[in-house]
Amino acid sequence: MFVELQKDGSKTNRFSVNLVERPSKVTLEPSGDQLFLHWDATVDDSDRLRRCIICSGDLYRERAFPQITGVVIVLAFAGAVAGIAGFLTTWVMFSAMIFVLLLDVAVLIFNKPRLVCYACGAKFKETPVSPHFHPWDQHHADQITRSKS
Ligand SMILES: [Zn+2]
Repeated sequence: MFVELQKDGSKTNRFSVNLVERPSKVTLEPSGDQLFLHWDATVDDSDRLRRCIICSGDLYRERAFPQITGVVIVLAFAGAVAGIAGFLTTWVMFSAMIFVLLLDVAVLIFNKPRLVCYACGAKFKETPVSPHFHPWDQHHADQITRSKS
């Protein structure tokens, strides 16, 4: 699993960790600092994350490229309009459509879900995501903000 730490909305440090070996501490890159991890009740029986291993906070599921579907729709629409208006030859339009289709398929294949911590914002990538996680929820985020203050 690959973990990215967040501070004030920007990436700070990162580390990779083995969910089966569960080391008690890791060395951060690029700072070189040591970070202690919480393994108590944060991983389930199938070695999948249940809670944040940094702060024990709740997690939500996130897609790596949430905006790409909109881009593909706009590209396809622009291509269709240009084709109808006669700005493009059939061959160019056909190539563009194939390109958009390939882009869409690539996104479907490579857009693996990842987990993000509500409390500390750490991102957990390249790890199996248990199906019970929900996408980001405003209500839940508000509850956590309230309980922290
Ligand atoms: Zn956390």
